[in-house]
Amino acid sequence: KIVVRDVRKTFPTKKEDVNVLDGVDLTVREGEFLAIVGPSGCGKSTLLNCMAGFERITSGSIRIDSEEIERPSPKRVFVFQETGIFPWYSVWDNIGFGLGKMPFDKKHEIVMRYIALVGLEGFEKAFPAELSGGMKQRVEFARALAVEPDVLFLDEPFGALDAFTRLEMRREIVRIWKETGKTCILVTHDVEEAVELADRVAVMTRRPARIHSVLDNPLERPRDSDQPVFRELKD
Ligand code: ATP
Ligand code: MG
Repeated sequence: KIVVRDVRKTFPTKKEDVNVLDGVDLTVREGEFLAIVGPSGCGKSTLLNCMAGFERITSGSIRIDSEEIERPSPKRVFVFQETGIFPWYSVWDNIGFGLGKMPFDKKHEIVMRYIALVGLEGFEKAFPAELSGGMKQRVEFARALAVEPDVLFLDEPFGALDAFTRLEMRREIVRIWKETGKTCILVTHDVEEAVELADRVAVMTRRPARIHSVLDNPLERPRDSDQPVFRELKD
């Protein structure tokens, strides 16, 4: 469980302090898929960065399982909008990158397991330049998951993808979430995406930002990845 209490975040600049988060309260349940939506520039990425420990909060508290978050940890990983995979590493090396030093056989076993999970079997020796945008995003997900994090932070992870690939990756992330049981926190300005993917949707107000409300998703989501993206048209 992640508990965010009365979090404030100001960025000091030369001119004046920019007050971005203004008393954010939010509780994320263990294993849930939570979406945070809000207008561009309201502070969604800032909040996510604070929750991941990348950014220091000005006041308030953020706790995971009653432990105060102070720094980044492989227990909490991030997937960004722009893919962060290394162009000069193969798929295998990209995914193995975060695993650090360990016997080759063990590393290989883990890397291949996550390559299979994201559906990239046969591409382990390929380089990012040989992959499509959606495939690169899969590598990114595999790399994030390979370190076995408890929490997955997703900051507009589908933003750079075309509509077809985005749809496909939305299904993938739901499947991966179901299979791995991670807590997923997705930031998006796309309300439709939030409603499609999340158990609950937190709505953020404009800067200085707060969480206005958290809504239970009333819809059943397309959790069945066997369903085709497009149904065959019958005349
Ligand atoms: P988007 O949907 O466009 O990604 P966002 O909701 O993620 O927007 P943030 O990136 O969190 O918004 O930024 C919120 C506000 O904080 C912006 O007005 C931005 O100018 C300001 N901000 C973010 N980082 C810094 C920084 N390092 N220094 C000063 N101001 C910052
Ligand atoms: Mg952002």
